[in-house]
Amino acid sequence: MTELKKKIMDAQTIVVKVGTSTITHANGSMDFHLMEKLVRVLADLRSDGRNIVLVTSGAIGVGRFRMSMSERPGSLPEKQALASIGQISLMYIYSKFFNEYDQIASQVLITRDVVDDEIKKRNTHNTFCTLLDYGVIPIVNENDTVATEEIEPYFGDNDTLSAVVAELIDADLLILLSDIEGLYDKNPKLYEDAKLIPVIYDVCDQVINGAEDTDNDFGTGGMKTKIEAAKVCSKAGIPMVIINGDDPDHIYEILEGEDIGTLFVPRGEYARVLDNI
Ligand code: ADP
Repeated sequence: MTELKKKIMDAQTIVVKVGTSTITHANGSMDFHLMEKLVRVLADLRSDGRNIVLVTSGAIGVGRFRMSMSERPGSLPEKQALASIGQISLMYIYSKFFNEYDQIASQVLITRDVVDDEIKKRNTHNTFCTLLDYGVIPIVNENDTVATEEIEPYFGDNDTLSAVVAELIDADLLILLSDIEGLYDKNPKLYEDAKLIPVIYDVCDQVINGAEDTDNDFGTGGMKTKIEAAKVCSKAGIPMVIINGDDPDHIYEILEGEDIGTLFVPRGEYARVLDNI
């Protein structure tokens, strides 16, 4: 077992980010089955003594479903309004499931720029630390009323926000639950011969930069923001894993040291683990 694997298995503070497509159906309604399974796993890990932070997307889709809108919202104010509507429903269901599994959840709405201002950063850090000390599971989303980075195309769906949170609370691990197994050498939705990359040793290396410059869609859409998240984590010394969120039990497999998804090795660990994984 490598040192990094051990660090992952022993992770005391874990940030888990779940994307819209994982927790909602195509019409935007919540996938209760999946959400309950996810909550059960996270509640179980909390019961086992780990600190858990959940970063969740999905508010806009849920808001759209609540308002019976068949079309996707076009304008930014519409998306912001729908996020406001959907957020409360999403929190209601998460809170209900966490209660059922004997855990207390809280809501934290933040913007990515909290880390640029020392006072805001300290306030946010203090809130998270106190919640975790209480044994509460903070559920995080972007405050879409005051900031729009995460709901604008090509910016987010909370990938980068989750890395900012992981850095802010000095997490031991960031897990991104995606609609795909991990990072491939090219977009598997377009290329049948795409191959899963099990480990990225250096997120800033030429493999990624080179791929981004090509036409193979490596750097577009969802994966681009995940790579941005990996860069934040890498600098902060936090391992990040992308796995398929279709079965939340995959989180246990990561914590059992199994090789699934794509592991992004943080800077500093690179030299030590290179020969061992
Ligand atoms: P989620 O929010 O569930 O993570 P995203 O749409 O944000 O979903 O990101 C995953 C999607 O990124 C994949 O379904 C795939 O269509 C796309 N993608 C583009 N390039 C790649 C790549 N190199 N490897 C994996 N997925 C890729």
